[in-house]
Amino acid sequence: MSRVYNFSAGPAVLPEEVLREAADEMLDYKGTGMSVMEMSHRSKAYDTIIKEAEQDLRDLMNIPDNYKVLFLQGGASQQFAMIPMNLMKNGVADYIVTGQWAKKAYQEAQKYGKVNKIASSEDKTFSYIPDCSDLPISEDADYVYICENNTIYGTKYKTLPNTKGKTLVADVSSCFLSEPVDVTKYGVIYGGVQKNIGPAGVVIVIIREDLIPDEPPIKDTPTMLTYKVHADAQSLYNTPPAYGIYICGKVFKWLKKMGGLEAMKTHNEKKAKILYDFLDESKLFKGTVVPEDRSLMNVPFVTGDAELDAKFVKEAKEAGFENLKGHRTVGGMRASIYNAMPIEGVEKLVEFMKKFEAENLK
Ligand SMILES: *Cc1c(COP(=O)(O)O)cnc(C)c1O
Repeated sequence: MSRVYNFSAGPAVLPEEVLREAADEMLDYKGTGMSVMEMSHRSKAYDTIIKEAEQDLRDLMNIPDNYKVLFLQGGASQQFAMIPMNLMKNGVADYIVTGQWAKKAYQEAQKYGKVNKIASSEDKTFSYIPDCSDLPISEDADYVYICENNTIYGTKYKTLPNTKGKTLVADVSSCFLSEPVDVTKYGVIYGGVQKNIGPAGVVIVIIREDLIPDEPPIKDTPTMLTYKVHADAQSLYNTPPAYGIYICGKVFKWLKKMGGLEAMKTHNEKKAKILYDFLDESKLFKGTVVPEDRSLMNVPFVTGDAELDAKFVKEAKEAGFENLKGHRTVGGMRASIYNAMPIEGVEKLVEFMKKFEAENLK
């Protein structure tokens, strides 16, 4: 068996230890004689799995008691609708558009109310985070929405926007658990887990209790899209993405063992620095994001020559570095270096890039 260095933006690399453990438990989970996949979500064994997963996540992120943790389905994209449907009491929301995912959320919210784009970085292909210290926040905005780490463009908010007292809602899909976070600064933090936590099919929503209405303000909101329903049922209103949650739980335990989010931040900074330092000195490769807004998780870069980019991606693949092709809307390359990417993966990639540069620099 040989494992590649997988730089996919998502679904993405998971800790090998977690995968091995899941493999060991595949046929017989802790003496139950069945796989977690085959188990009732109402069983005692599963109850322990989901409760422990929630508690471990609470410990890792230091989630206060007045926040609910929901394990839902539908991916991050489902939240683009669920957020306005549940939160738009005044029918108004402000969006900061820093990439495709924020833009999609902004467009979806328009179905449910008056949505203002209060800042954007689209003028420069989303290569920076706009100054958000004094934005024209709407008087009656129900919330201010951001995508905190822009998976496709490789930017990240280093300071959260000044929302002037309004509720902050953040899509953290691609920076989930990559560094410590002060949950109290947000009304809602959510993310699809397939970037940094687990298998696709689970989205985690951390929401302050007072934001969950008894009845969603949008008429005829489907039961399945009602936060209150899932919150009251502790994510067991219907069959949850049971196996996915089990893997997430294992990743939470792995993170705790690794030293928690402070340790992850140090690890991630170290990894990202190796790559960014090389990009800054390289005569062939160049990063596409302004240095102050660079993501620790997604690192886009180009040579400036589409043919050479394609050659690089091809040769990199042959050398065991997978999924380095940039997003179809950006081109070039992108290395996603999530929590589970080992430091050797980045070191070896940089070694390979140096070799490629030596061979191809004219
Ligand atoms: C991948 C991604 C999404 C979309 O996630 P799905 O689970 O496919 O709906 C949304 N936001 C961000 C920041 C992402 O990286």
